[in-house]
Amino acid sequence: ALHNSLVELKGNIRVHCRIRPFLSFDNKLDGSASQNCPTPGEVVHAADDETVLVRCALPGRPTTDKTYSFERVYGPAASQAVVFEDLRPLLISLLDGYNVCIMAYGQTGSGKSYTMLGPHSEDDPTLLSGAREDLGIIPRAAEELFRLISENPSRSPKVDVSIVEIYNNNVFDLLAKDNSTVMSGTKFQMVSTQEGRSEVPRLTCRAVTSAVEFVGLIHRGVKLRVQHPTLVHKNSSRSHLMVTATLTTASSLGSTAPQSSGASPQKKAGAGNWWITPPPASSPHAVPVDSADPPGQALARLQLVDLAGSECAAVSGVTGSALKETSFINRSLAALADVLGALSEHRDHIPYRNSKLTHLLQDSIGGDAKLLMILCVSPGQKHMAETLRGLTFGARAR
Ligand code: ADP
Repeated sequence: ALHNSLVELKGNIRVHCRIRPFLSFDNKLDGSASQNCPTPGEVVHAADDETVLVRCALPGRPTTDKTYSFERVYGPAASQAVVFEDLRPLLISLLDGYNVCIMAYGQTGSGKSYTMLGPHSEDDPTLLSGAREDLGIIPRAAEELFRLISENPSRSPKVDVSIVEIYNNNVFDLLAKDNSTVMSGTKFQMVSTQEGRSEVPRLTCRAVTSAVEFVGLIHRGVKLRVQHPTLVHKNSSRSHLMVTATLTTASSLGSTAPQSSGASPQKKAGAGNWWITPPPASSPHAVPVDSADPPGQALARLQLVDLAGSECAAVSGVTGSALKETSFINRSLAALADVLGALSEHRDHIPYRNSKLTHLLQDSIGGDAKLLMILCVSPGQKHMAETLRGLTFGARAR
């Protein structure tokens, strides 16, 4: 009961922190890091299920410990299944009519793509062809969505998927029919509808009727993200990847209000099933699909985001396209921080329009929408400065 009342108080933005395993390259110290904390090795630990402990031993000084609290903390041994299990209830919320966003935040190499998509290698840019148990949140969410839909076929919503990359504050359509849109670097401009919603005109929206189709589109989009030649960046960590699934109630349902899709009383009582709340009376943030199909009614939108690396690259010494990239990434992540800050202070004006990233996320951050941020951190001392920055950002975002 205590847990549930805490859950109700906590609002709609949650942060889970995932500490990835210590990898061989974490041991290679570089000069700047070694000055701060000369003991190489693991310095970031999961103290318990909700606390991150950063321990640094400076020679001749007492060990300093810093702790950070989150709704959930995963240590290096946490499996992809465990990480997904805690956010499974969000898919129920989605079908209940809530807009949902799940995003991974962290510096390059901290495990964002692993967490969102799965393991990947140079040879396999699709990131999805590893063992089933290694699959990340995006393919698992696709499967869970259709599993839940199949449990209640009488009210199957229509699911439309779009996949975009945001690079240097431009939006690129990764599902463009013949790839030419992406290959020629066509930029999409956002527009705001009269109702104040953010939309991307002419963006490809593909209807999917199964998890297999959904995952197939993700494969295609991710492959294109890594391979298309006209975008200067060689490295996908310099761009944001956003998968959006828009749910529309089948037209036969007319204007029937969304019903609970499985949040049984027993499930609600379970401590693991946080965040299942009654369906909203209305869904003010739900966005109708730009589809010509009459007369379905917007139900909710799911946005899954692998953010660009959050590292503060030193601007000095960086020139040309790298400088441009860095400043756009810094600006879009700063815009995200501003939006989260404005929401936590309950300000009247939420500055969604300061970047394409936040503009596109406008409908799934704030209001009734449920945002789960997975803060990914490296365990090693080498990355401690960025790790501390990320932990501070994540702790503030809640
Ligand atoms: P990012 O997307 O933040 O740049 P990656 O997802 O590419 O980081 O992760 C960096 C490296 O660490 C990759 O080789 C990845 O496979 C590995 N890795 C990340 N998280 C885990 C994990 N939880 N378990 C095992 N390996 C991981």
